[in-house]
Amino acid sequence: MTADAAIAPNLSHGSSAPLREELVSIRRGQLRDEVSLVGEEIQLRDPAGGTLVNGRGLSSYALSFDGSRWAIREKTSGRQVAVSSGRTLEGSGLLLRIDLRPLRSSFRLIGRLKGRAELVALVPFEQYIAGVVGAELPKEWPLEVFKAQAIAARSFALAKMRGTSAQALEKKRGWFFEGTTSDQMFDDDRGHERAVQAARETAGMTLVEDGQVVSAHYHSDCGGQTDEPATVWGGGPRFGAARDAGCPLNPRAKWRLVRSFQEIQAALQLKQILPTRFQLASLQVTSRSAAGRALSVAVVDALSGRSFSVTGERLREALGFSALRSTLFEVKRSASEPTGVEFTGRGFGHGSGLCQWGARSLALSGKGYREILSHYYPRLQITER
Ligand SMILES: [Zn+2]
Repeated sequence: MTADAAIAPNLSHGSSAPLREELVSIRRGQLRDEVSLVGEEIQLRDPAGGTLVNGRGLSSYALSFDGSRWAIREKTSGRQVAVSSGRTLEGSGLLLRIDLRPLRSSFRLIGRLKGRAELVALVPFEQYIAGVVGAELPKEWPLEVFKAQAIAARSFALAKMRGTSAQALEKKRGWFFEGTTSDQMFDDDRGHERAVQAARETAGMTLVEDGQVVSAHYHSDCGGQTDEPATVWGGGPRFGAARDAGCPLNPRAKWRLVRSFQEIQAALQLKQILPTRFQLASLQVTSRSAAGRALSVAVVDALSGRSFSVTGERLREALGFSALRSTLFEVKRSASEPTGVEFTGRGFGHGSGLCQWGARSLALSGKGYREILSHYYPRLQITER
């Protein structure tokens, strides 16, 4: 692929054409102050097409955004070589490093305020899937888990692309996917051969219902039984649920969290789930899923006596997804924190779809990726390539 082709977005999301080389845009985080760009054959251009830099061999540049345009300075000579026409720059090159961080794709820089910019990676679709799988799984896990994860991640991504006006979203924000759990974790920095192999060997395969690709949610550890998205979030696909015997092999299968009422209240107020005038008096689970997940939690205000209902997942979001590790918890008054509660729970993640720790157990017992996927998504079919 030429450098020019690599940075020309081809967002044919609605088509049924092969997607392997289609570029997708992923937000990689914020950059501050002067941005350092080092690499070989560096090309920088305005999105409209004007070439700003056409580097030969190894070179390094300092890029600074003044609030409306980018100034590009060659580092060795100190000479300013170009100024962009607007907020966005696109670039490509070999062995690139941005602020010392390796970047294995072409990219976009979107200036925000003076000295603040978003870095967006422009990555071929299947390379994106490999980057998601590599970010999700420890590299020594069985290949069959990687393959199952690749198919789930691909389905999740394609369902979002098919369900959203990709061009409109990208035009508005400058990227389509977040590289975090709000879409899918993405890590293109490591050499995760097994992830690349799994994406390649399952390329194009997806989970479907009646021929339509389904948003195949997945998570770390179900704690013994999964629930469907429709149960966990009150909406979403119905792909079935599964029991798991293997999850307790997770060394962190059981967990405990102590929080004071003050901390819980502040976290819920920060998310605007509770009003500012509020004094948390008690917290209890009022409904549970078949698997035992806390679907709704009542929090009572000592001032008015009123009770507010919070969903289990919103409570996790407020307290931190890695702190309140799942909604498969019991809650009681804390012995160590007189004005607080103790959560004791199992599992990690929302608990719907593929369970990574359970999939690992299935793979270690000899199951292939097809059996793993039909275990966690019993109502879905796997398309062939
Ligand atoms: Zn599980």
